[in-house]
Amino acid sequence: MRHSSYLEVNLSLVESNFKKIQSKGKASIIPMVKADAYGNGLVPVSRFLSSELGVRKLGCASLGEAVHLYRECPDLKSEMMIFSDTEITSEEWEHYYQNLPITPVLHQLADIEYVLQNKNLKHIPIVIKVNTGMNRLGVSLDELEHLAPRLKERGVQHLMTHFACSYYPLKNGDKTHRQMDEFVKAKKILTDHGVEVCETSVSNSGAIEQGFGMNETYVRPGLMLYGPPSVDPIIWNGHQVSRFVTKVLKTFIVKKGTPVGYGINVAPEDGYVAIIPIGYADLSVTTLSGAEIIVNGVKGKIFARVNMDMSFIFFNLSHKDKIKSGDQIEIWNHDNRVIADLANQMKTIPYHLMCAVTHRIPRIYKV
Ligand SMILES: *Cc1c(COP(=O)(O)O)cnc(C)c1O
Repeated sequence: MRHSSYLEVNLSLVESNFKKIQSKGKASIIPMVKADAYGNGLVPVSRFLSSELGVRKLGCASLGEAVHLYRECPDLKSEMMIFSDTEITSEEWEHYYQNLPITPVLHQLADIEYVLQNKNLKHIPIVIKVNTGMNRLGVSLDELEHLAPRLKERGVQHLMTHFACSYYPLKNGDKTHRQMDEFVKAKKILTDHGVEVCETSVSNSGAIEQGFGMNETYVRPGLMLYGPPSVDPIIWNGHQVSRFVTKVLKTFIVKKGTPVGYGINVAPEDGYVAIIPIGYADLSVTTLSGAEIIVNGVKGKIFARVNMDMSFIFFNLSHKDKIKSGDQIEIWNHDNRVIADLANQMKTIPYHLMCAVTHRIPRIYKV
């Protein structure tokens, strides 16, 4: 646990991002809280979404995440949809599906067949993901055709698909539109067989940001609730909900050619070094070296090896009087551009950075 390094999560920014999504159309929101609510804390974020914002359905990736949430918040008023690792065919975990308000998203033929013939799962609403071109999870349209007669009795509560390219600016006839055409066909296959389809959803952040898929029953935003959905250009006017704060642990002057830290990484010129108490055990990414960090308005660069508990920032020597031990540093703040820019420099995406803040960094909640 660190003390002066922490992730401050501002829940009112989750609320304002949520309201901005709401204002984009009539679809209801299923906030995604997988991966510890994108690093912001599964339990406090889900509690806030449920009690303060009245959200009735949340989404996560695995049965384990859902079970963890209800263990921590047995009185939570919202249900959880599990989108990928449902473990629905495991008898060992069946009791969770009987006792908790959780719904599996069925994304392969065998799982749907299993649920249809298992008496213990009779109460489960049939929620199906179709593959419309992402080619990851989801049943094919042919499989749906084959299944349709057996779905007639129970109907389909919720039919959904997931887009592969919604982060690119949308154009008529592009991949996202073609996936949407396939989705319409999938729905028609079911209704042509007399299967009732009650609800639908298609859009994640990239699509919602561009106002796409807002006429379905639901949208399923993840990243845009917490940070910047697209890296370049940012068109979303929401905010990064967390602020990742640390401090300068120690400073020193180095002469050109002096090795610093593990291995042989020499100072490229005479300079000024600040050590920060953030290493790969705090932010588990491998490409922090070279990234720009701003301290007291002065730009420096992460330099030499990132250690488990520390990293070095290299500054031009002329800045030596502007930075001292104890000064606060924001690795990122509530401006979406800061984390987007950092992710770009590290050749990764904001999702990765947000999920990379380890549990040694305490989360502090502000409303
Ligand atoms: C993760 C996920 C989302 C949310 O994606 P973002 O890009 O973070 O908005 C939506 N739908 C499904 C099926 C997902 O797995």
